[in-house]
Amino acid sequence: MSRLTLTLGRVFDIRVGVHASWLFVYVLLAVALANELGAEPRPAALAFGALTALALFASVVAHEFAHALVARRYGVKTSEITLFLFGGVATLENEPPTPQADAAIAIAGPALSGLLACAFFGAAFAIGHAFPGLGHGDAVRLASYVAIANAVLAVFNAIPAYPMDGGRVLRGLLWHRFRDPLAATTIAARVGMGFALAFIVAAVLTAAATQDAFYLWYLLLGTFLLHQGWSSERTMRRIRARDVEVGAAA
Ligand SMILES: [Zn+2]
Repeated sequence: MSRLTLTLGRVFDIRVGVHASWLFVYVLLAVALANELGAEPRPAALAFGALTALALFASVVAHEFAHALVARRYGVKTSEITLFLFGGVATLENEPPTPQADAAIAIAGPALSGLLACAFFGAAFAIGHAFPGLGHGDAVRLASYVAIANAVLAVFNAIPAYPMDGGRVLRGLLWHRFRDPLAATTIAARVGMGFALAFIVAAVLTAAATQDAFYLWYLLLGTFLLHQGWSSERTMRRIRARDVEVGAAA
């Protein structure tokens, strides 16, 4: 990403970093989680919020590593994994070689998030039932939050709105069907823009109906997705125009 990204280290030879915009959401989330524990002393509640927010973002990083490691199996390198305002992103150095690779790399993230959700729901249930009355409410709460976050990651990313994972799976299927990665990306990007627009309208209507400014965050997210879809579509059009030019010149 940009100069505003702080490198945390390298894992599996992939640079892991956080963008400055992530620090903002991290603090916001940590405080919101601390506020959930209204009855506890403030320092303990803040520590819980800080720890839980870290666990939630670790889930996002795990999701991105699932993409990166499956990509590696197909010979696609990942240069970096970055946490930013809207979550995480794994930057692949080149395009997947086949539609099957494209779909497998895309599915890996939500699949791992789904597995982690099951594991943490199981852990929350086990802690709650194995040691009742041991004052372990925070551990159950933490495991439940991590489970919910992973379930949301799995479901939300599976929406077929390119460039989100579900949209990449759609692109892989279209690529397989039409044997044309450019056309597949263009169609997937247009479907993605449709979802992004629906998302923006839903966010505005919900914010207006509930008078809750929180929903405007979804407006930002929808705008980001719309821009991503639009720029993918434009890039594909440019590549196609260049191919035609090269074809005409040859
Ligand atoms: Zn993903």
